[in-house]
Amino acid sequence: MTLSTPIEKISGIGTVYQKKLKRLGIKTIRDLFSHFPHRYEDFSTITPIIKIKLNETVCIQGKILEIKNTRTWKKKMFLTNAVIEDKTGAVKIVWFNQPYLTKTLKIGDEVYLAGRTTLANNGLYLTNPTYEKFFKNGLTHTGRIIPIYPETVGLSSRWLRYIINPLLISFKNKIPETLPQKILEENNLLPINKAIQQIHFPETLDLAEQARKRFSFEELFLIELAVLRTRMKLNKEEAVSIPMDVDLIKRFVDSLAFKLTDAQRKSAWQILKDMEKNRPMNRLLEGDVGSGKTVIALIAALEVIKAGYQVTFMAPTEILAKQHFKETASLFKDFKINIGLLTGKEDKYVSKKLKNDVIEISRKKLLEKALEGDMNIMIGTHALIQDKVKFGNLGLVILDEQHRFGINQRAKLVQKNNEKEAVKIPHLLSMTATPIPRTLALTVYGDLDLSLIDQLPKGRKKIITKIIAPAKRKESYEFVRKEVKKGRQVFVICPRIESGKSEAIEEDNKIIKKTTKKQKDNNSPWADVKAVKEEYEKLSEKIFPELMVDMLHGKMTPKEKEEIMRDFKDKKTDILVSTSVIEVGIDMPNATVMFIEGSERFGLAQLHQFRGRVGRSKYQSYCFLFTDSPSQKTFQRLKALITSEDGFKLAEKDLEIRGPGDFSGVRQWGIPDLIMGSLKDVFLVEKTRNAAQEVLEQDPELKNHPFLRERLQNFNQKVHLE
Ligand code: ADP
Ligand code: MG
Repeated sequence: MTLSTPIEKISGIGTVYQKKLKRLGIKTIRDLFSHFPHRYEDFSTITPIIKIKLNETVCIQGKILEIKNTRTWKKKMFLTNAVIEDKTGAVKIVWFNQPYLTKTLKIGDEVYLAGRTTLANNGLYLTNPTYEKFFKNGLTHTGRIIPIYPETVGLSSRWLRYIINPLLISFKNKIPETLPQKILEENNLLPINKAIQQIHFPETLDLAEQARKRFSFEELFLIELAVLRTRMKLNKEEAVSIPMDVDLIKRFVDSLAFKLTDAQRKSAWQILKDMEKNRPMNRLLEGDVGSGKTVIALIAALEVIKAGYQVTFMAPTEILAKQHFKETASLFKDFKINIGLLTGKEDKYVSKKLKNDVIEISRKKLLEKALEGDMNIMIGTHALIQDKVKFGNLGLVILDEQHRFGINQRAKLVQKNNEKEAVKIPHLLSMTATPIPRTLALTVYGDLDLSLIDQLPKGRKKIITKIIAPAKRKESYEFVRKEVKKGRQVFVICPRIESGKSEAIEEDNKIIKKTTKKQKDNNSPWADVKAVKEEYEKLSEKIFPELMVDMLHGKMTPKEKEEIMRDFKDKKTDILVSTSVIEVGIDMPNATVMFIEGSERFGLAQLHQFRGRVGRSKYQSYCFLFTDSPSQKTFQRLKALITSEDGFKLAEKDLEIRGPGDFSGVRQWGIPDLIMGSLKDVFLVEKTRNAAQEVLEQDPELKNHPFLRERLQNFNQKVHLE
């Protein structure tokens, strides 16, 4: 047996469990060992029965005096009642719904039991304790610190302990060290064999913590190696070098109706400098909502086009793609540029020729033009990454709201062959309004160079943000009436309806997660639709029967959505009820009020993005936050939004409060829960980055670190980087 031995070969894991494990991505012994507990239960002290108190978690050892099954009077539940005795006394035990226990546990058996004491009608009970009967080879579930694994359907901690413990014994001191010795010493880390043992079955909680530290280091170190190697690889690729044409840029910038901010200039400069090199750019342009990222991307596009190459510009939604198309057409009108629009289902394709009028052409024609290189810039949605779409000489890929796309989609865009210059790969400019906390920028986003627009254009008014108490809801509706009377418009954002709560039932560490049907609905896009429909009915029928209310959700056809957005833009609608689709990039300057229902369900950074949908004009704008759970905690969190307009601060706060897992792209890295928190630790992140850099400088292919190389390959496969 080696670490790569598949789980099928392990005795005790039948086909049912193989499936369950695979659902968690656990395929080999290595994967099993890397499936870390998320907490521990300390059962290392055996309490004499006489000392047991109420509402305590205890571990006892004794002999079974009585054990039998009964059924509750409604015959709905099995009870297994037992009495256990040690030298100091006896105590009653009850298990719920585990009648099979009487097959294993018999009168006279010596057992360990660990669980919580509760009070029932006739005295103190140990309820649903974990038991252990066969402990000749050491204890696994009681009498020690035991691991509790993240709850998963049908995979209990008890079962995982039962499988992992013997494996650890047979692998004792046989696991090859992945981290270089020097790194272990410098950072005071436990060697791998000790760490694996201690993270699953720790001798003390302090050792468990040291093990966690080691694996936190290792996990971050692997992320750093992966992203730094991606950078190195990209640096070996060839891209077209785009000479900087200062006159052209000046002509374009002068044609704009506004003056660029300093931050915009700086970002544009960084991008143009990158593209001068014959190495592919991989840059993320980060800037708050409304900071003016599009125009910077268009400067880059213009340069590339004038150097004779093509550009694709991909947006996450149809609405946004069309908005970009219009804006691009308008800003490029004096520059003799062909602009295509390619979107999803809707079979309407438009090309802009020299005369500046928008003409419709067939998709076939559009694709031909792309391939011939006649199409200078092709704007579109995901439809752009279909295999049919090929470019003659693609020089730049622009990705708007990049967090909406997965790593694979991004990779696909860039790898798309240039038919003429097959060896060269295009530059990539991604854009996002989601501020990335520093630790994440250095880890999961570490393959990207960052440009930051940390300044809004002049003259933007501060958006007045308020948390609306339920009692004041009526007043806020009156406020809406007044604004609409003045000619303004209103957005209402609804979170998806959460109709069913997850019921986690912990029985003998057997954690059954019941997925109700309603919950399944929650995971489907229909949950969004339902929320929007209900809110729409309420507003249009009961609250604002005299106003024009409309709704928008993800299940509508692109055509429907387009019409609704157009009506809103043309001021035919007063109030637009929407799902979070509105979050991304849409420009509606006449909208001045943003209602956010169930605001506690969104991250601060996301709320900040919603808010950015208003406040784009000379009128004063407002953002009203409603919440179904007006707890102190919710209130504290939302308050940050009132006091801060700084997207970065809000993102850092999100990281602090909600943890890294909430940030887009982070889950993809499959970081175990136990060490997720290390993504908040700037000091640790920097240490691992330096360590990774040092190792790669001396040994870029990791030839002298075979075990580390193997581990990294596994890691990359798991994260789907390769
Ligand atoms: P985002 O960064 O959110 O994508 P956009 O690029 O959509 O922002 O820009 C928002 C609006 O601000 C657009 O209407 C754009 O024309 C305008 N804009 C961009 N830069 C400036 C500037 N320097 N001064 C004034 N308005 C600007
Ligand atoms: Mg934008």
